[in-house]
Amino acid sequence: MPADDVYQGVDVAVHYMIGRGLDLGAEVLIPERDWDHPTMTYQALIDLVSVQEEGDEEYSQRVLEVTDYKTSWQADADELNTLQRWGQAVVMWRVVQNKPLQWHAQPTIIDIIRQRVVNLRTWQEFTRDINLTDPDDIAELERWEQRINTLCMTAHNTKSPVDGRRPAAPGAGCLSCAYRHICPEAWPLNYPGDLTLQQLAEELAIIEGQKSKVIAMLKAADVEKPIPIEGGVVGFKEQVRRVFQAGKEVDILSEWLTACACELPEQDINVLVSLLAALKLGKGNLDAFSKALMSERRKGIAQARAEYVETLTTEKRISLFGVWPNE
Ligand code: SF4
Repeated sequence: MPADDVYQGVDVAVHYMIGRGLDLGAEVLIPERDWDHPTMTYQALIDLVSVQEEGDEEYSQRVLEVTDYKTSWQADADELNTLQRWGQAVVMWRVVQNKPLQWHAQPTIIDIIRQRVVNLRTWQEFTRDINLTDPDDIAELERWEQRINTLCMTAHNTKSPVDGRRPAAPGAGCLSCAYRHICPEAWPLNYPGDLTLQQLAEELAIIEGQKSKVIAMLKAADVEKPIPIEGGVVGFKEQVRRVFQAGKEVDILSEWLTACACELPEQDINVLVSLLAALKLGKGNLDAFSKALMSERRKGIAQARAEYVETLTTEKRISLFGVWPNE
C-alpha cells in the first residue's frame, strides 16, 4: 500500500476514535498476538478482538467480537462475506476450540463469534453472529475452512522446489503489488539499490516515455476487445462517471446564499451564475462544495453530502484506456 494511503488511513482511524471517544492507546485496541490457525498455514490479521457477556439475570452468553476497521467509503454489509472475514472467523473458532480464552484471568467458553465491520468514514457498523452451539453455523464455518484450506494447499503446491518461491505472474496485480520495487519479473531493468536521486529521476522520465509509447502502440492496434492479461485486461473500458448537471448553478448559488443568510439583487445573481457556468464545475468541486455547505461533524454526514452531490450531477458513460484488474 502506498505510504500516503497509510497516513490517510491513520488520520481517518484517529478521527473515528476521537469522534467515538475511544481510547487512543494502541495496546488497548490492537491485540499483541498473532492469530494462527492451529493446522493450516494461515494467519488472520485482526484489528480488534474483545470478549463481552450479554444477557440478563436468567440467561447470558459470552460473545467474542472480531472487529475489522475499514477506511473505504464503500465498505458495507458485503464486507461480512469476504475471504478475509471467513478466515478471521475460522481462526478464532479454532483458537477458542483448541484452548479456552483467558478472560478476566479465567478460562472462558465462547458461545458466539460476532463478526463486526466498522466503516471508519461513515461510522456504519455491520455484524453477523455465529452461534457455536448451532450445527448449521458450525457447518458454515467448516465450509469456509475447507475453501481456505484448498487455497492454502494450492499456494503451497505451486512453490518452486528450487527456491521455494511461487512463480511470479506479472499482470494487472502488479498495479497494487507491495513487491513491485523488488520484483525481478516486473522490474526487468533490475535497478541496483544504490542509484542516485538524479539517476532515479532520469529512470522515471524514461519509464514515462516508454509508457506513453506503449499506450500509443496499443491504441493504434485498434483491437476490438480489451486484451486479456494475468489478473485483468488492457484496453478501453466503459466507465460511469457522475458529471455536473447543466443548469444546477442556480441551485448551488441559492444554497450558498441561504447558508450565509445573504440576499443579492437579481443582476448580481445572474453574474455569479454565469461565472459558475464558465468554471465548468467537476465532481471534485461539488464534493468540496458539499463539505463547505455541510461542515458539521455528525454521524451520517458523509452520506448526506454524497446524496446532495447526487442531486447536482448526472451519470455519463465514458470510455477510458488503461489496465483493468478483474473485479
Ligand atoms: S510485481 Fe507483479 S509479478 Fe511481481 S510479485 Fe507483484 S504481482 Fe507478481
